[in-house]
This record gives sequence, structure tokens and C-alpha cells, in this order.
Amino acid sequence: MDLYNLKDDSEKVSFTEAVLKGIGKNQGLFFPKHIEPLDESTLSWLYDLDLTERSYRILKHLIGDELPNLKAIVKDAFTFKAPLVKADENIYALELFHGPTLAFKDFGARFMARVLGSIREDKRLTILTATSGDTGAAVADAFYGQEGIDVVVLYPKGKISKLQEKMISTLGGNIKAVQIDGIFDECQDLVKTAFDDLEFKEKVGLNSANSINISRLLAQVCYYFEAIAQLPKEKRDKVVFSVPCGNFGNITAGLIAKALGVKCRFVVACNANDTIPRYLESGNFEPHETIATLSNAMDISRPNNWPRVEALFKMQNWSLKDLDYGSMSDEETKKAMVRLYEKTCYALEPHAAIAYDTLRNKIREGETGIFLGTAHPAKFKEDVDKIIGIDVNLPKVLKEKARLESLAYELKPDYNALKAYMLEVLKV
Ligand SMILES: *Cc1c(COP(=O)(O)O)cnc(C)c1O
Repeated sequence: MDLYNLKDDSEKVSFTEAVLKGIGKNQGLFFPKHIEPLDESTLSWLYDLDLTERSYRILKHLIGDELPNLKAIVKDAFTFKAPLVKADENIYALELFHGPTLAFKDFGARFMARVLGSIREDKRLTILTATSGDTGAAVADAFYGQEGIDVVVLYPKGKISKLQEKMISTLGGNIKAVQIDGIFDECQDLVKTAFDDLEFKEKVGLNSANSINISRLLAQVCYYFEAIAQLPKEKRDKVVFSVPCGNFGNITAGLIAKALGVKCRFVVACNANDTIPRYLESGNFEPHETIATLSNAMDISRPNNWPRVEALFKMQNWSLKDLDYGSMSDEETKKAMVRLYEKTCYALEPHAAIAYDTLRNKIREGETGIFLGTAHPAKFKEDVDKIIGIDVNLPKVLKEKARLESLAYELKPDYNALKAYMLEVLKV
């Protein structure tokens, strides 16, 4: 697979190089030079395969021969289902929350952990990642106990749910949780600064595992195919996916699936942090200050995958005018949760609720709507119980986590403090 740096196209890398580097020169993202579409007959054949077999074929098509054990990696990473569940008239939920940390990020993180484990050779690696909730949990779980790889997870203090925090901060061992006295964007800036500190980067073998890593994105391409495969054949040609967007990794993966031949269009669904919907409306890119909402994994005002979306549209000769969009306040989110539960007894957590309700507004005659269920309602139990008036059952893994003590360290949003902390705990 040939990739290039979106900020400096003289930097060209293979897939394994892109995974190891994470991010390129000048903080440029790596992106494929070309995406070869799958032909009709290959597509319909793929839809007949099961999730792991099909995902292996798709990833092999994208990545090529760089990973000799790709099949084993996919089998070991995708050990849970992604069921398509009817939620409303002509509207389905693609439930991506049946993995170990109950959010879609398990797909990307588990694939990435196994890819890195297989390509690192004897090099020591440190994963440094910023999370507004689910990434950290998924990454921590996916890498826990991996030989030769340490993980440092930064999250904004008090701005992620108690359960999310427990999933990140109770593992210990090679997983170091750090709560930052600030907001998510500051955590993300710390990560970027660390990557610019070349000496430090080299010393600890720094790698990012947030959605800027290309391996995560490619893993996520697979479940868009899984969604279509679960639809009856006659419904596969007119699909609209609604994606709850934060850093826009998930929707980038969907757009890659479209470039590969999946027949669908997309709706960008945002909370009040609506930089992209406003941009698509006006053509002006004007991020506001990030505000805290119920859907905290989407509280991002400068989505770091957006350059990839633009690059893909350019490469495919698509028009951004065809990208549908919407945004919702917390009040509207709550109403959507209540409305759907009263109608069909389908319980939504706030992220999925935004995707569902934006889809309901944007779906056209004759289309089948699929919104991405990005997290299990139990992950946001407090809010879901209060808003809908139910008592969501905590899955067993969460019950066990809830009882454990947090081992998180606390730091100000100051790069030098972070660096000193890391040098100490990583013993380098
Ligand atoms: C991360 C996350 C999102 C946003 O996904 P992006 O790929 O960052 O756009 C949406 N919902 C949930 C529950 C998440 O954890």
C-alpha cells in the first residue's frame, strides 16, 4: 500500500511505515495515493462471506502483501459481532459496541495492537494517545499486556464518564493513565507536541494510537461492508449511513468503503461542536471553543481527520455538496432518545441518538437508513437512565470495572511536565 503525507507529498511511506510513524512531517496525516475499487461481482461475493473472512479480503485488497499474517491478525482482532438491528421504520442501528470496551473503537484499536505487535520486531514502543472517552479505553484494553509496548493515555479530568475513566485507569501494568487538568483539545495538543519533539520521540519509540493511525481507519472500513451484508439484497443499493462525528475517523473509514464500491451516501451528525456542519453550510472553516455536551466523545471542534475527508473527495472527484450534515443540541438529543424509546423500545445513548435523529431528518424516499451505534447505552448509564427513565443493565465487564480503584496520575496541560513523567515511568 502506497501512502503519502497530506502536508508534504514528497514523504511517501508503505502501510507498515505509516503504522509505525503514526503521523508524518509537519503533523501531516498519511493517506493512500489511490484506492482501487472492487468490481460488482467481487462485491456481491464478499457480501456472502462472514465478518472475519470478508474483512481479511478487504484489508488484503487495501494493504497488499505487507503483513504475512494478516489473516490471523484479523481473526484475533475481530472476535465479536456487529449486528444490524431494526430501530425504526426504514432505519437500522449498526451496533458496534459488542467488543470488550463496548464501543466501536475496539475494532480499530484491537487491529492496530496486533499489527504493531507483528511489525515492531525488537523495537520498544510507547503509545501516547489523547482520548475524550472511548479511544483510551479501547486502546488500553487492546494493548494491555503486550510485550515491549507501553501505553500512556491522556484524558481531560472530570470530562469523561466515571465508567470510561475506570476502563482506562484501572488496568495498571503497561497501561499508564494520566488525567489532564484541562479539555480534550489540550490533551490532543500535548500529544502533537510530543511527536514534534524528535529526540524524545526516538528515545521512547513514540507512536500514536488515536484515529490518526491509518491501521485503525482501515479496520473500521470493514464494518460498513458488514452492515450492507446484513441487508436483504434488494435494499443494498440505496443506503444512507449516518455517522456520529468527533474526530471524523469513523466517517473517513465509511468514505473509503464508498470509494471501494459500497453504494451509499453519508450524513455527518454532530453535537453542538458543529465546526464541520457550519463549514459545509457556509464554506467558512471557523472552529468555536469546544463545549461540553452529553455526547462527550464528540466534543471536538478541530476534527483531526478532516483533511483526509477533503483529500478523499478530491481524489474521487466527489463534491462536498453531496455530503449531508446536521447538528443537535443536548435538548434535542434527549428528545430523540425519549422519542425512539417510546416508539420502539430501542434505547439510545447520546452519540447514537444524534446519528439516529439526524438520519431521521435527512433520509429520503426509498432509502434504507443505517446509523452507527458507537457505544453501548450502559457506558452512559447515568444519563440514559435519567433521560429515558429506564434502568439500563450493566454488562458484566462494566460491573467488574466499576468496583476497581483508579490508578490515574494527574498533570497540568504542560508538555514539560508530561515529558518528565513519561521519562520516569518508562524508565528510559
Ligand atoms: C469516538 C466516538 C465517536 C466519534 O468518532 P470519530 O471517529 O472520532 O468521529 C462517536 N461516538 C462514540 C461513542 C465515540 O467513542
